[in-house]
Amino acid sequence: MKKTLKDFQPHREFFVGLDSDGCVFDSMEIKHKECFTPMFIKHWRLQAASKYARRVWEFANLYSKTRGMNRFPVCARSLRLLNAWPEAAARGIQVPGLAPLQAFIDSEYPPSNDGLEAYRKARPDPLLELTMEWSLAVNASIKDIVFGVPPFPKVRETLDAIVANADLAVVSGTPGEALHREWEENQIAHYPQLIAGQELGKKTAHLEAMVGVDRYRRDKKLMIGDAPGDRKAAEAAGCLFYPVSPGHEEESWDRLCSEALGRFFEGSYGGEYQAARIADFEALLPELPPWAS
Ligand SMILES: [Mg+2]
Repeated sequence: MKKTLKDFQPHREFFVGLDSDGCVFDSMEIKHKECFTPMFIKHWRLQAASKYARRVWEFANLYSKTRGMNRFPVCARSLRLLNAWPEAAARGIQVPGLAPLQAFIDSEYPPSNDGLEAYRKARPDPLLELTMEWSLAVNASIKDIVFGVPPFPKVRETLDAIVANADLAVVSGTPGEALHREWEENQIAHYPQLIAGQELGKKTAHLEAMVGVDRYRRDKKLMIGDAPGDRKAAEAAGCLFYPVSPGHEEESWDRLCSEALGRFFEGSYGGEYQAARIADFEALLPELPPWAS
């Protein structure tokens, strides 16, 4: 039986929350480059501007502030970026009006395939049909292509060091079934006390439920992640944040293992040291695309 947030109980003085996709596993690169991008080009009819479509998708999903964002808003963002790029527009692509997709994104419906399916029944629209076809094709492509992705180097020894002193939980927006499969197939599922996926709510809710207001003392709670959304969840729940920097994951794990984790346990991680790690991370994720400046 899968555990719930209520089953998580503090046993130690320290808490560590760990994101999974793109943080423990190098899965963002393969998912976005080999699955999302080809289906984006195919289903949104961007063949004539495929070079630009690829750069836009990678920028929006991997190498900018919206890294790690839910697929529906980031799809709308990518289409808008493409439309605003004169060289891409000059290839004659037709980006449709996005109002029905934006209305779904802004609705109360969950930003998942099930949510879109329910929303589409209430408000049928050809654009939502296209969005659904694309989203289902992405899932099929991921199932077909993404397997055998191991954790980054140094993850195992870092996990050993974490669980020697801290309670550990996986804090992720990925479906729980996929998380359990990935952690089990890599023989690391015994490390965390709880693996929390999207069914147990958003990351901020996971963290708030596990660390509470007073379950751990200030500066004894740390979240590790690879996206601005992880940093925001950490801040909202009163946790410190350690970034695994996109494109520099090996260095990030090496530093966590040899330096940052030791500082966290000694009480010298917060303040200047954390600020320097976050500044390096943020500098890697610009707001505006390079071609727009
Ligand atoms: Mg991530």
